[in-house]
Amino acid sequence: MAVAERSAQNFIGGEWVDAASGETFESFVPATGESLGSFPRSGAEDVDRAVAAAKEAFGSWRLVPAPKRGEILFRFARLLEEQKDELTELMSREMGKVLAEAGGDVQEAIDMSVYMAGEGRRLFGQTTPSELPDKFNMSMRMPVGVVGAITPWNFPIAIPAWKLAPALVCGNTVVLKPAEDTPLLASRFVEILSEAGVPPGVVNVVHGYGEDAGAALVAHPDVPIITFTGHRTTGIAVTKAAADNLKTVHLELGGKNAIIVMDDADLDLAVEGIVWSAFGTSGQRCTAASRVIVHEAVYDALQSKLVDAAERMRLGPGWDESTDVGPVINRGAIEKIHGYTEIGKDEGAKLLTGGEPATDGDLGKGHFYRPTIFADVEPGMRIAQEEIFGPTTALIPVRDFDEAVRAANGIRYGLSSSIFTRDVNRAFRAMRDLQTGITYVNAGTTGAEVHLPFGGTKETGNGHREAGQAALDVFTEWKSVYVDYSGKLQRAQIDNVERPAP
Ligand code: NAD
Repeated sequence: MAVAERSAQNFIGGEWVDAASGETFESFVPATGESLGSFPRSGAEDVDRAVAAAKEAFGSWRLVPAPKRGEILFRFARLLEEQKDELTELMSREMGKVLAEAGGDVQEAIDMSVYMAGEGRRLFGQTTPSELPDKFNMSMRMPVGVVGAITPWNFPIAIPAWKLAPALVCGNTVVLKPAEDTPLLASRFVEILSEAGVPPGVVNVVHGYGEDAGAALVAHPDVPIITFTGHRTTGIAVTKAAADNLKTVHLELGGKNAIIVMDDADLDLAVEGIVWSAFGTSGQRCTAASRVIVHEAVYDALQSKLVDAAERMRLGPGWDESTDVGPVINRGAIEKIHGYTEIGKDEGAKLLTGGEPATDGDLGKGHFYRPTIFADVEPGMRIAQEEIFGPTTALIPVRDFDEAVRAANGIRYGLSSSIFTRDVNRAFRAMRDLQTGITYVNAGTTGAEVHLPFGGTKETGNGHREAGQAALDVFTEWKSVYVDYSGKLQRAQIDNVERPAP
């Protein structure tokens, strides 16, 4: 497939503009290595302009009635629907996902926008009785101001929507610094938002690298909140940099998610769930199943079914309907994934299949890695502890349920987990005891829906959640309001306290 070169600029105050320095960087097609276009390599000056535009727009956007803000999001969802096929195909080129998954990514943005459009007519606060007579109490949500949104490349339309839809409906304005590997999709995303009626300055995009444009956004004094999705180590750097201005930092970081397969599981269903969760998006999901914890009674049977399924998967470009596994994002990812294959072998794990880049024919032009399965993995090995972010999974044998839960919990991350079992008691214990923000029963580790909170415990984040009602807590501050209509000074905790007789 020929790839048309398509460049895009920054979007600031409703105008498409180059970086102040005039510098650019390129976006490449991971399946072929071709260039997709060039984009502004922005720095602090560009971020300053974008933040100034967002700050100015905040004055009027926060006063637009929330239902009207919601209507714009609703129009955005409709436009995404109309352009879903085009965006899906573009995603299969720029990010590399297979078409079905790319369509799911766009659909997630549609769903999130519809859900948050509805929030425009809710954004509920509370009213409560006052402890004093003739007094009214309520709480209400207030927008925070200019939101700095920094996003990864693996869900290039969905993740900007998870952040921008709630931020906007709550009355904030945004400066988005998208991942440097998927700038074209980010540009299309804001173009469509603007077409939906988002006024100039309300959403701005500054392209470029994390260490310049991203860091400048995090450091900017007029950005009170940073919402960040990416690596754990980047999240730590962002948190430290944001501490100087005491910013709110919302982090969605990595995972090392486990599927537990018990002795009573439907093994064929479990294999389907593992293949989908471990190798879907070439393993480049924060919720990827990179560990499979298996009861010893079904360990051998599961291994052979899983290897069979993995070896049947066809590698190819995402836009080819017959492809099961697309490329990984870039050359650096191949090196990292292969590095972990070497680590796994050195640690004494048994490589069952895969373990090498795929380079036959046209695959050699892109960045492909074979679905890789290690067996006989100990829970403490690096391949069972560290996020690989590729199509690699580790089989860990266990004797019983308690050992399975201990292994699942014995990591620094806490995003997603799953158990395959037909025993309802075990299923409920797993829901209670697995230390993750998301748990699936008889399904893989991936498949979140937009109306429930999304995020993780431990070092997957810092206590916030994306999506659902929980997202509103990230993008608003609570204000409590007391209205006294008694016509006199009433002192709380003093005037209404009965004093015991002397
Ligand atoms: P990354 O941390 O390399 O980059 C993420 C973003 O941060 C990019 O836009 C990058 O330019 C920017 N950045 C880099 N350094 C920065 C700095 N010093 N200051 C400010 N910004 C900076 O991550 P990635 O490779 O794009 O994404 C993969 C990671 O994202 C994985 O760890 C994955 O698990 C995680 N992820 C988490 C979730 C979740 O919701 N928990 C979802 C998707 C991906």
